[in-house]
Amino acid sequence: MGNNIEGKVVIITGASSGIGEAVAKHLTSLGAKVSLGARRKEKLDQIVKDIEQAGGSARAFITDVTKKEDVDALVKNTIEAFGKVDVLFNNAGLMPLSRLENLHYEEWERMIDTNIKGVLYGVGAVLPVFKEQKSGHVINVSSVAGHRVGPGAAVYSATKFAVRAISEGLRQEVKPYNIRTTIISPGAIKTELPDTITDDKIKEVMQPVLDIAISPDSIARAVAYVIEQPEEFDVNEIILRPTAQA
Ligand code: NDP
Repeated sequence: MGNNIEGKVVIITGASSGIGEAVAKHLTSLGAKVSLGARRKEKLDQIVKDIEQAGGSARAFITDVTKKEDVDALVKNTIEAFGKVDVLFNNAGLMPLSRLENLHYEEWERMIDTNIKGVLYGVGAVLPVFKEQKSGHVINVSSVAGHRVGPGAAVYSATKFAVRAISEGLRQEVKPYNIRTTIISPGAIKTELPDTITDDKIKEVMQPVLDIAISPDSIARAVAYVIEQPEEFDVNEIILRPTAQA
């Protein structure tokens, strides 16, 4: 157990692309076992195949994080498959940016359901397990947009501010149970996330930031860093962005 990652069981939501996929592949290369949750089965199956071909251990469970019962099942299935859960990487999210005056109610609701409620369902599903184990690590994905609001980002930023508030509240509450909590706040990372933007004007405004986006491998290395610290050492937040990003 030299690196404090080897042998750990890590649940990753939003594991079918981007940051989740990169984290899954990196952690398994360091000896973790991963349980992958997302909605797109073919994508998850391919990632499991890639990991197994590289000698790692992974299982996939179709999960919609907006459904509490799916998230509960992800945790239950993980324990059945691997015998325990050590880390939850609470990462599923979407970012359909648009100005409030466009009244994209459906997008507001999807962001709130996925980015906030999905994160809460993950926390709720692992908390009893971690309390019982007297160990565990919740890593929630916020954003630079969880620190400041940019163009068309009122609702997205609100969800990411909420993730930071939930994480800090959790951090304060779980001290008696030896549970670690970390917020990862990325800047522009090259993933499928901008594909969720339906507002062409905002896409145009965002383009210079998207042009300087960096690889999700940068986040994977940050996640490995926070997990590999000694158990009594809790990295509470990492903000990580392209050097060129304002
Ligand atoms: P991607 O679009 O590549 O990945 C998003 C993941 O979330 C996919 O695996 C998708 O899988 C999953 N997802 C979306 N909705 C649901 C749902 N209802 N249930 C389960 N899974 C869901 O983007 P990123 O990798 O960039 O995004 C990961 C996280 O990082 C998000 O929370 C995002 O807000 C955050 N982030 C990203 C930044 C960036 O610049 N890329 C910057 C800051 C934060 P599927 O569709 O198969 O369900």
